[in-house]
Amino acid sequence: MPTPVSNDFVVNFPTLGYLAADWIEWHCPIPDGFKQGSPYVMADWQLWCTVNHYRVKNTAKWVPDNPVRGPAFFYRRSLVVAPQKTGKGPWTASQALFEARGPALFAGWAKGGEVYECRHHGCGCGFTFEYEPGDPMGMPWPTPLIQIMATSEDQVDNIWRPLTSMVKNGPLIESVKPGEEFIRLPNDGRIDKITSNAMSRLGNPITACFQDENGLYTRSNKLTKTARTMRRGVAGMSGRSNATTNAWDPSEKSDAQETYDLHPADVFVFFREAPASLGDFKKKAARKRILEYVYEGSWWVDLNSIEAEAAELVQLDPAEAERFYGNRLVQGQGTWLPPELWEKAYAGRALAAQSA
Ligand SMILES: [Zn+2]
Repeated sequence: MPTPVSNDFVVNFPTLGYLAADWIEWHCPIPDGFKQGSPYVMADWQLWCTVNHYRVKNTAKWVPDNPVRGPAFFYRRSLVVAPQKTGKGPWTASQALFEARGPALFAGWAKGGEVYECRHHGCGCGFTFEYEPGDPMGMPWPTPLIQIMATSEDQVDNIWRPLTSMVKNGPLIESVKPGEEFIRLPNDGRIDKITSNAMSRLGNPITACFQDENGLYTRSNKLTKTARTMRRGVAGMSGRSNATTNAWDPSEKSDAQETYDLHPADVFVFFREAPASLGDFKKKAARKRILEYVYEGSWWVDLNSIEAEAAELVQLDPAEAERFYGNRLVQGQGTWLPPELWEKAYAGRALAAQSA
């Protein structure tokens, strides 16, 4: 089980994450709202997820004629669990663009004074980043092949829309050609949408993938299989993947839940789950404490309006309200037996049938 997330984000490991954050701030404008067009600056917890995803192994070795790709990094993939409206879509869009055009691969260790310059990588925007001695350095994928998966066309638009806006309103428009179905990148690279009704490119080798709402990918809707196929495609290229989701219904055994329960050491999991001590989500005072806890750092969120939505949904579907806004793993109200109990009851019946 993952250890609870503390809010002391201490970065005491080598990472390309700060380079990623600077690169994103320079290349990705805020996609919508009152601050549309201003540089996209990550909230502290988003930066924490980024510096962990781009954490480099201390032992990573630079081999110029055959660069180590995914295995240079500490984590093979990331799972980020966060409540509604914490900006998972724009964050994922920024990460996808960094994988598409930014220095997302390890390129050796800096001695000091080395500089990453966009102009050496087909981008005339003027961006530079000077490394400190001992920093890992980065370089872009030669041909980035990226897939973005979601449960439906509408869902994928939560990423596609900010992604397209970031491209159109920033310096990336010089080299990136956004379209409805896919985005063309230089050197035959591309970003594709994968949804349940657009699977034609599923299974292709890819360098990165982003799986949105994998708390809704299950065996019965076959999306668990789709997600795994996609991750096999990324493993084939030594790439890496990223998943984001709301808290899931534990009776559904989703892809997110399987990752969370298994939690392999090379998967980074961020899940700021509100502790039980904060109280009952159905009660207004406790709900306020829980919302303050799980939305901390997401400065664009108006907690009063979140509270208004949560209070209404609590009346209609308390479990869904607690998952969506309280970021807690709660079973759906339709489930009247805990899943283990159901399986046990069934196993007991099977045994009885055998011995009869
Ligand atoms: Zn640039």
